[in-house]
Amino acid sequence: MENNITFTMIKPFAVETGNIGTILDVIIKHGFKIRAMKLTRMSKSQAEKFYAVHAERPFFADLVEFMSSGPIVAAILEKENAVNDYRELIGSTDPAKAAEGTIRKLYGVSVQKNAVHGSDSDENAQVESTFFFSTFERFLL
Ligand code: GDP
Repeated sequence: MENNITFTMIKPFAVETGNIGTILDVIIKHGFKIRAMKLTRMSKSQAEKFYAVHAERPFFADLVEFMSSGPIVAAILEKENAVNDYRELIGSTDPAKAAEGTIRKLYGVSVQKNAVHGSDSDENAQVESTFFFSTFERFLL
């Protein structure tokens, strides 16, 4: 069970440009089951908390500003080997370097507006899922 979930966000620019449905379709077609999902918006302080690991990076202020600039879709996805398989499906952080067919290649436009977030470890998948969803909002088998 432990390596079976990952956490994702469809980021503000991808939501704003009407790509929620197409991105969810790619996710589902690659075998991920949606086990929790909501359209929500992070405050600046929530975005600072979510990305606290990047607090010292030069792009932190821009990242927080952007991620709190509009609604996002947050979701918990379930699949065997979810974290690694989803990282592969989303592609490199920079859409220009992402492999053909990956979500960031298809729907990302820059390093900042790279369409989606995906957890980088099983531990962070749990932490990030808990950040957004109560136990009543999760439908894990
Ligand atoms: P990820 O795990 O592939 O999302 O990448 P990171 O954990 O390294 O960075 C988190 C997020 O910060 C990325 O998805 C980008 O949106 C953003 N980011 C990373 N590097 C940069 C950068 O050099 N400039 C800007 N503006 N944003 C960045």
